[in-house]
Amino acid sequence: MIIVDAHCDTLTKTMSTGEGLYKNSCHLDISRLTVGHPRVQFFAAFLERPFDKCCAVKRILEIIDAFYREMDKNRQRAALCLNYGDIVKAAGEKKLACILSIEGGEALEGELSLLRIYYRLGVRCMGLTWNKRNQIADGVDDGDSGGGLTPFGRKVVREMEALGMIVDVSHLSERGFWDVIETARRPVIASHSNAMKLCPHRRNLKDDQIAALAGTGGVIGVNLYHGFLRQEGKAGIWDVIRHIEYIAGIAGLEHVGLGSDFDGDVGSRDWGQTPFLPEGIRGAEDMEKIFEELARLNYSQAQIEAVAGLNFLRVIREVLGQGSLTPYGPVGNKAYQEQAEGAKEEAKHYAEHPELDVCQGPFGHIDDEHLQQEVKKGED
Ligand SMILES: [Zn+2]
Repeated sequence: MIIVDAHCDTLTKTMSTGEGLYKNSCHLDISRLTVGHPRVQFFAAFLERPFDKCCAVKRILEIIDAFYREMDKNRQRAALCLNYGDIVKAAGEKKLACILSIEGGEALEGELSLLRIYYRLGVRCMGLTWNKRNQIADGVDDGDSGGGLTPFGRKVVREMEALGMIVDVSHLSERGFWDVIETARRPVIASHSNAMKLCPHRRNLKDDQIAALAGTGGVIGVNLYHGFLRQEGKAGIWDVIRHIEYIAGIAGLEHVGLGSDFDGDVGSRDWGQTPFLPEGIRGAEDMEKIFEELARLNYSQAQIEAVAGLNFLRVIREVLGQGSLTPYGPVGNKAYQEQAEGAKEEAKHYAEHPELDVCQGPFGHIDDEHLQQEVKKGED
């Protein structure tokens, strides 16, 4: 069995607590995620307030830098995964497979070029909005504005699909959700959202949204946050099961997964005041209790494994690709493979016409004579 958790905010939270990812006081850490079954953990670079309003790029780069430093420190136990093949490799080496995501498309500041840069930095999934409107779309807090994807937002969805990035609709306004469904050609996920019918919170999905998302081939990650599980009374593991069963009843079990939202209280005012998680779940170490409960309810091993991780892995494999080396690095996505083919043609052309070629310096193509001399000096 392999466990996939499609969303946590631990990365951003540790930046507030000053802790690292190996061992900390948060809901999850690498020490807890590397015992038992192999795991895939999505780490969201979450743009908390006030960074959603200012210096979004700077903040996202700070978070990504912190993530990379943690990956370096923990390279014996964790690995950044850029595609499905990387996950298989990490699991084989008993390392935590990490997927880097962004929560809040403000990070693009309205520029597609930044999306492409984030892809090159290893980001493989993005939540288009947090709760508030940005350049891409309206968020769930914009209520009855009726605002969906902007023209830029549509371009973002198309570019994400061309690059091989997973489009995440959790936190998106309802109109935005339907615009994504209309625009997307690949599986779309709601990394951490529940069923509105069971818990009428604006962050949860209506029945027709659940059905439409499944129609893309996507997966809904059931969220463990108390407030999205039930409105009144104390939530327990049973509530998690109720949401799994309800969503499966509409979408089919192959479209249900888990998106814990661990450490999602990072931006909240009552941080640590109200219970964030349901009774019986302290953090990542208790995730398996959900599968034990499913087993007790006579779910088959194959069904449990699908919910635990195989459903999300299917989307990862389809969108991120299997993994193959191209001149642009390890990308497995079709659009980029076509580009890579184009690059081969170009290389052939230059090989046939050496007079067209220019000096290849450490910084790429250099055709300035002075720079060529500098580069040559450096080589001597
Ligand atoms: Zn969230």
